[in-house]
Amino acid sequence: MIKREVLMSKNLRYFNFKNVKVIYHDGVAFNCLPEWECFECCKTPADMNEEEYKTLLSLGYSDFAYKIAPGIYKLKKRNNACIFLDNNKCEIHKYKPASCKAQPFVPIYFDFHSIELVVAIEPQAYDWCYGLQEGEMDKSLLKNVAKACKKLFFDRVRYYENFKSPNEAFLIAALSIPEKVGLIEESPMKSLCFCCGYPLKTTKIYDIYNIKRGYKEYMGALICERCINTIKSLNERNIVDLKDSLFSNPKLFEFFKI
Ligand code: SF4
Ligand code: SF4
Ligand SMILES: [Zn+2]
Repeated sequence: MIKREVLMSKNLRYFNFKNVKVIYHDGVAFNCLPEWECFECCKTPADMNEEEYKTLLSLGYSDFAYKIAPGIYKLKKRNNACIFLDNNKCEIHKYKPASCKAQPFVPIYFDFHSIELVVAIEPQAYDWCYGLQEGEMDKSLLKNVAKACKKLFFDRVRYYENFKSPNEAFLIAALSIPEKVGLIEESPMKSLCFCCGYPLKTTKIYDIYNIKRGYKEYMGALICERCINTIKSLNERNIVDLKDSLFSNPKLFEFFKI
């Protein structure tokens, strides 16, 4: 296993796949081989969406999960681990939910400038995931991670669509990711750029990803230096106008066809 402190001295690498950007460190490889019989991540049963739940029902499984929110189910526990962990093997390996396929990667924030979902290894995973080793990252594996994380993001959008309009659901899903994964120090209102949603007040454990960006406080809202520069260059009066927020960019919604 690699110590988080060691990561600080390594360069960051980026893998882009269909509007998902995966950040990882040079010299860090991930693999998860069933023969290792690790399954540390299975000690916390995963969430699944309606479609994944129904697939398992159609395969004849029953009483394996319970509903925790509209369209979201949590796998049940057996012997202090996921109900499908049997003799250190995942009984539904081929059909496991996207949240298992993404491990130990998670979406960490949504970049409204480049319209990309940014994904990284959850920093705490360096303490429990045996699959994180020194070596060369397998790109085909990163492709699967990107697909799984995008699916997780859209599950979240669909969840909010139960009580919000599609555009609002998209924004809430995007802006709530940093808080969900423990990337920001305070609430989204007090930690994200008001104009582009970039995480500004970030927690120390995420320092390994070097995503720090300067910001200023303007009428109680935080605005990142990138937005200040963009807005100033567009604005003759050379002042920050909050109406120029990236959230009002229609391309954002068109792009995701929500
Ligand atoms: S903790 Fe890591 S290596 Fe172990 S089963 Fe989970 S993803 Fe695989
Ligand atoms: S479904 Fe399989 S991979 Fe996912 S938590 Fe359960 S045993 Fe682990
Ligand atoms: Zn910004």
